[in-house]
Amino acid sequence: MPQYTSTRNHQVALPAKRAIFQGFSKDKGLFVLPEIQKYPLDINQLSGLSYQDIAKQVLTRLLPDFTQDEINQSVDSAYDQTFDSPEIAPLKAVDSFYVLELFHGPTSAFKDVGLQLLPKLMQYVLDDQEKVMILTATSGDTGTAALNGFKDNANTGITVFYPNGGVSFVQETQMRSTFGHNTNLASIEGNFDDAQTKVKQILNDAQLSQELGDKISLSSANSINIGRLIPQVVYYFNAYKQLIDQGKIKAGDKVNFTVPTGNFGDVLAGYYAKLMGLPVNRLIIACNENNVIADFFENGEYNRNRPFFKTVAPSMDIQISSNFERLLYYKSGEDTELIQQLMSDLETTGQFQVDADLLAAIKQDFACGFCTDEEIKEMIHDLYEETGYLMDPHTACGYKVVRDFEEPDSDIPNILLSTASPYKFIDTVYEAVMGEVSEVDAMQKIMAVERQTGFTAPDAIKELFGIQTTEQDSLSINEMRDYVKTKAKEL
Ligand SMILES: *Cc1c(COP(=O)(O)O)cnc(C)c1O
Repeated sequence: MPQYTSTRNHQVALPAKRAIFQGFSKDKGLFVLPEIQKYPLDINQLSGLSYQDIAKQVLTRLLPDFTQDEINQSVDSAYDQTFDSPEIAPLKAVDSFYVLELFHGPTSAFKDVGLQLLPKLMQYVLDDQEKVMILTATSGDTGTAALNGFKDNANTGITVFYPNGGVSFVQETQMRSTFGHNTNLASIEGNFDDAQTKVKQILNDAQLSQELGDKISLSSANSINIGRLIPQVVYYFNAYKQLIDQGKIKAGDKVNFTVPTGNFGDVLAGYYAKLMGLPVNRLIIACNENNVIADFFENGEYNRNRPFFKTVAPSMDIQISSNFERLLYYKSGEDTELIQQLMSDLETTGQFQVDADLLAAIKQDFACGFCTDEEIKEMIHDLYEETGYLMDPHTACGYKVVRDFEEPDSDIPNILLSTASPYKFIDTVYEAVMGEVSEVDAMQKIMAVERQTGFTAPDAIKELFGIQTTEQDSLSINEMRDYVKTKAKEL
């Protein structure tokens, strides 16, 4: 049976269930399945399949030690009426391109796709008496989706850290109203990268692991966990299937995907789909002003020694895109020694340099552009005025990059991944659509934008107003370890 290995040491070998349980490898590498191209999906058979059918096929291939029953149950219970669209991720024609709407889950952002399924899979991963505390650093959407997905899961706790002042009103209210018996929420003094770096340290803390004993483990719900990453492969196939069923392409035709990118999980899942046989011409990465990856595409230097910007697309305010390591692994011919070296350079100097061959190999499948805050607002405004379609700021970032890379003479369809409901980031959307900055509260803005555009806001967001919330805890970075220890011992 195929086993997972580490991006930093090819001698590591373990089944998918253990890889999900651990989150990432003890050598700090990420778990990867070697030679994904060996597990293709037949694109000639896609037509007529449901989202759930495709999900089962993808999971059966990439999580081979789960039984068919475990996969079926997990998929069917994750993708049900908690999504407000029967297609789960509907594809809509807008102007000369397509939008793949990934925000129909319970927290109205694309992270629900992974984080509704991961907790279901986790139930089949834990041995008798094993308990696990899931740790998550969030720039907003992961935290809400993780709290929602894991709340009240048996033998599991969920602890979420978010940067104080770094998430939107809607995100914070969502997190503060989850009310599971096993959920913990803390705002921290620092930015997302600080929180993520500390969470990684805590997960690697051998001393802490000893203090917690054999039966309590720590794991992660960030997209470094394969149990969250792999569900995201599904919607690429499903988008393609919808184009076939709508008569826009025939099986075998190429398509482009443009993906608003932060931690590189979403777009990497697209690359996995390509390795599994999806006819993808190009995967286009869209960054905001934190454009480390866009610069990397210029000269092969990944350099995070630069100012950190808080942008209007906060879920992409990231300088260390964790999943980029997985791309380097596959593109270097699975050269774990090289990855070890590059990641050690990144940790010690904040940068690494790849050679021209590796950069060229990456550019065969990927391109990258970026978008400023001003442009984000312009894009939301322009697309709405031109077509009546309303986008959130992250999606708008992607739209700018779709335009940058559009080739007028090409008939390859462009699919833009829409990662959040516009109502989740209402301040920016209000300003872009109404043409003014306003001091009225978020609910009034939502109602005004609904009236103006006729685009209805998700019930799950409207219900947040007036809801009772709990106070979160507030910590410094240095207090996170003890906090985790205390909460894990209470499991
Ligand atoms: C998380 C997120 C992204 C970035 O996705 P990655 O997988 O981290 O690259 C983009 N947009 C929104 C709304 C998100 O929540």
